[in-house]
Amino acid sequence: MTSPASKKLSYWLVFQNDCLLIAKNDTAHKLLTASAINELIAAFSRQHLLAQFDDFDIYCAELATESSLPQSIDPIPFRKALESLGTDWYSIAAKARAIINWDKNHQYCGRCGHPTELKTGAFERHCPACSLVFYPRISPSIIVLIQKGDHILMARSHHFLPGVYGLIAGFVEAGENVEEAVHREVKEEVGIEIKNLRYFGSQAWPFPDSLMIAFTAEYAAGDLMINPSEIEEAGWYHIDHLPGRPSSSISIARKLINHFIEQQKGKSPV
Ligand SMILES: [Zn+2]
Repeated sequence: MTSPASKKLSYWLVFQNDCLLIAKNDTAHKLLTASAINELIAAFSRQHLLAQFDDFDIYCAELATESSLPQSIDPIPFRKALESLGTDWYSIAAKARAIINWDKNHQYCGRCGHPTELKTGAFERHCPACSLVFYPRISPSIIVLIQKGDHILMARSHHFLPGVYGLIAGFVEAGENVEEAVHREVKEEVGIEIKNLRYFGSQAWPFPDSLMIAFTAEYAAGDLMINPSEIEEAGWYHIDHLPGRPSSSISIARKLINHFIEQQKGKSPV
């Protein structure tokens, strides 16, 4: 742990349960500053220095579940907080969540049960008894926009909000490369073959620890055959009649769909 005792300006990404704590007053980023966390710091269960810049430092911390908050601070569900912080703060906020989860989830060795120790200056916990090392977990996942002429495949999972459709997505399995994972997921979930797989971009998605690797692809063969254990409904949708899309403006799913729309309308890609 690093002491926040320096007089340099600092911002604090403080989590309590599934919420990020945000300042109610209109500070630059609504992130908590050192003065704002003064009365909370005694109840922090963990804290880490995340990043240092010339003008300020950034810390993350976790506040004990039962601690009450001063009037000046609001707990905001993390996904909503990410949207309101905007793209400039996305990566550091995602990192903050990952570091808190990693530190909390690896207090004991998963192999021998001994308490782990934090390595100074690194996001690394190690077991002094058996030397096993624990790093923040990153789970690679794929997401793919499948195009068939001017239609795209959109699907609903059982856990989606009513009326919302998304793209085919899933975790990369052990032993696979990401391209194999895309082909397998598409085949498993909707029964079709795809071709011309192209890398689109990637995004940390801290719910809880995904790295979303996004692709575009074209339909190749087969009829839609939905796997009911994973997909509730799927279909080909014309650009002018797309169903409800993922509400989160920050998600790479939304960026993929927007990219397709821009392309189809002859504008420059996003
Ligand atoms: Zn161990």
